[in-house]
Amino acid sequence: MSTHDVVVRGGLLVDGSGGDPFLADVALDGDRITEVGGDVGRGRRELDADGLVVTPGWVDMHTHYDAQATWDPELTPSGWHGVTTVVMGNCGVGFAPAAPDRHDWLIRLMEGVEDIPGAALTEGIQWEWEGYEGYLDALDRRRWVMDVGSQVPHGALRAYVMGDRGAANEPATADDLAAMERLARDALLAGGLGVSTSRTPLHRSADGELVPGTHADEAEIMALGDALRGAGHGVFQAALHHPDVPASFGWMRELAQRSGRPVTFNLQQTDAFPDLWREVSGLLDDAAADGIEVYGQVHGRPVGVLMGWSATIHPFSAKPSWGPLAFMSPGDRVEALRRPELKAALVAEDPVDLGEFATFLTTGWHKMFPFRGEADYEPPPESSIAAIAAREGREPAEVAYDQLLADDGHGLLYFPLFNYSDGTLDPLWELHQHPRTRMGLADGGAHVGSICDGSTPSFMVAFWTRDRVRGARLPLPLIVHRQTRETAEHYGLLDRGLVRPGLRADLNVIDLDGLKVDPPRMAWDLPTGARRFVQGSEGYRWTICRGEVVREDDEFTGVRPGRLLRGPQPA
Ligand SMILES: [Zn+2]
Repeated sequence: MSTHDVVVRGGLLVDGSGGDPFLADVALDGDRITEVGGDVGRGRRELDADGLVVTPGWVDMHTHYDAQATWDPELTPSGWHGVTTVVMGNCGVGFAPAAPDRHDWLIRLMEGVEDIPGAALTEGIQWEWEGYEGYLDALDRRRWVMDVGSQVPHGALRAYVMGDRGAANEPATADDLAAMERLARDALLAGGLGVSTSRTPLHRSADGELVPGTHADEAEIMALGDALRGAGHGVFQAALHHPDVPASFGWMRELAQRSGRPVTFNLQQTDAFPDLWREVSGLLDDAAADGIEVYGQVHGRPVGVLMGWSATIHPFSAKPSWGPLAFMSPGDRVEALRRPELKAALVAEDPVDLGEFATFLTTGWHKMFPFRGEADYEPPPESSIAAIAAREGREPAEVAYDQLLADDGHGLLYFPLFNYSDGTLDPLWELHQHPRTRMGLADGGAHVGSICDGSTPSFMVAFWTRDRVRGARLPLPLIVHRQTRETAEHYGLLDRGLVRPGLRADLNVIDLDGLKVDPPRMAWDLPTGARRFVQGSEGYRWTICRGEVVREDDEFTGVRPGRLLRGPQPA
């Protein structure tokens, strides 16, 4: 009997296959799992998993760490949540290829689309590249607590090939198409895991411009598909405008067939079309029946906007009296906001008109829920600001104001924008059991002034398998499968996502009873001290990447074995 580098002993193994849990020891040697079973011999390091659950490390395929990966080896928040592989470069935005005179423009694009502070990006990105291959080389020089895979963003590619014409969303010429196809194929062959695009009017640069390629015609999309076909690997990921999804099925099916590669898009429930997800489920079934690989990416909870005095948006951010407050330090601002005359003005004033969407966000009192202590992601209707105000005979704006001032001015409101039209997560419960949906959309690293869902992998386990009270739960093996083997296979990362001999030694050892997602809070820890929402967790005894313990008892160990993934990985 051999001695192993590490033995994780006596845990309840939920192995990523979706099958029933069983008690087993897991032996690791180097970066591989070498034995799984009842008697695997001794380890030079023994990890006692008695009473704990052992899973593969989480594989999160929808993140936006394209810039952060160049300066942050811990890739938080994902690094705090048992994630051992991320895929970035989603939704058509990223930083390569990048002409030297387009750096600021790409930053403004990312700032607008993904709400990442431009100053932090300017300070943090070193621009060691121009082409996509150079970007991958720059990533290859870095090490993280997890592996990182990257997709080719159509927006950056189009602006690189077409210059101002591309940025302004003018039609592509035949030469433009040929150049985009060639560069995308070369980028995939250099190690890109897919090509991504944005087709939603909600995604705009900080200057209000649409992402390049938003209106790309079918010929341009098919050119990107031909790049995937030419490379022989990769996923096509599209950020779609929800009402356009049924009409987009025509080109998505054609693209999947022509490229021979999977196509994935964001599938959510919106208040304007609360039943459309069901129609889309049927279209996914039809595609599956025809053997066509089109998948809907589904989030794990409402896509929720967090509102606080330092957040991107809150009920008072469009009021005239807010103007000077926006530029104050957080401490001074809270002091000012405690003054009764300022409160009276902010509560009473009419907001300036910022359009329908912002008005809905800032005055939709029935969709605003106080986060008090624990963060409740399926709050009952009676706990909304509207309901509280009606019960207490007060103005909703005043109730919201007091909530934001609570907790020393760190109080938060939660606005479940998507996936919560009927005040229940039952649609998600159904969607997560649909064979053609995939776990995604957590958007780690993005929307940092309004959303903090990089914590979703921990939430999936705690909420859906244990904590949900307002509806049915989901089985632990399914949830583990959804964010390990299933997401890994989607991107051709066949060497991970299962606890099997020969596969990668990426594991979580979890105290399931103690697993907990912390309430979100604002931090000022991006480059230049820029703000972002953060959300930690408790309950990860060990997280192991490539056979090395990167996190122990919810603290980083300082070990950073994670590397750039170049292309799909064979089993
Ligand atoms: Zn995204």
